[in-house]
Amino acid sequence: LQRLRARLARSQSTLGQGLLALLSRDSLTDDDWDEIEDILITADVGVTPSRMIVDELRTRVRVDGKRGPDEVKAMLREQLIAQIGPDLPRGLKVDKHGGNPAVVMVVGVNGTGKTTTTGKLARVLVGDGKSVVLGAADTFRAAAADQLVTWGERVGARTVRGPEAGDPASVAFEAVKEGIAEGVDTVIIDTAGRLHTKVGLMDELGKVKRVIEKQAAVDEVLLVLDATTGQNGLTQARVFAEAVNITGIALTKMDGTAKGGIVIAVQRELGVPVKLVGLGEGPDDLAPFEPGAFVDAILG
Ligand code: GDP
Repeated sequence: LQRLRARLARSQSTLGQGLLALLSRDSLTDDDWDEIEDILITADVGVTPSRMIVDELRTRVRVDGKRGPDEVKAMLREQLIAQIGPDLPRGLKVDKHGGNPAVVMVVGVNGTGKTTTTGKLARVLVGDGKSVVLGAADTFRAAAADQLVTWGERVGARTVRGPEAGDPASVAFEAVKEGIAEGVDTVIIDTAGRLHTKVGLMDELGKVKRVIEKQAAVDEVLLVLDATTGQNGLTQARVFAEAVNITGIALTKMDGTAKGGIVIAVQRELGVPVKLVGLGEGPDDLAPFEPGAFVDAILG
């Protein structure tokens, strides 16, 4: 946890330091408050939540008077955590139930880190003593299945793949069938994320899900979102949220952005909690999302 925190903090502490420096001034002018709001918006927090945070801080400062740096930091920490939603359910349903494996579908635009996240998640689960089968249902991108097989070998999970350009739903079906036959704990299905047409995407993801559900319930649909794409990523994410019922977000490449506020924006936009964060390309660079630790990392 310490290592992950350090990795986040390296790229993100600028946000916290800018805010804390401003908030620690002896008296705050209207311009200062505007600047605080701008910093939050620039960090992808979103206009409405930024305004809410500033209004709340402003009221507190007015009512309570001048505070020391530690108190200011505590106040800001509390506001950010409140916006992130400390009580949202962030656990992943990855345990076998009713004799069937838990099934996790991983969806999102190509290049966001779907395959990598699938591999890293398998690594976490295997590390927890679970048995995992991977399904390479991204049959559109030629290298995706190879990449997933490599991940599977690396982390100790079997990968089910189909013929190149084959039917994604049939690969998903086979993977779940295999998972049931082997009695594994979790089956994770990597899907294709080409945004050809919205209807095409919805049809394909819907079909993959329905076909899986002939054998087992889909317990999690994780939307992978690249944190570095900011508000643009959100627009694309919306299409996926319309296509399938998303249960959680995996926010990748958090190691490459100082804009941690995207966590708040994406949850607001999609109404589902961020459950995982990607912090690098390596097998151990995936962490459960924990609001307190995250805000501490941002504030430095
Ligand atoms: P997919 O097309 O969505 O399956 O994307 P990939 O899993 O192939 O990932 C695309 C690129 O992003 C690869 O080079 C990954 O190594 C990289 N990547 C994925 N997750 C992270 C992350 O959390 N941090 C960083 N820095 N790179 C990542």
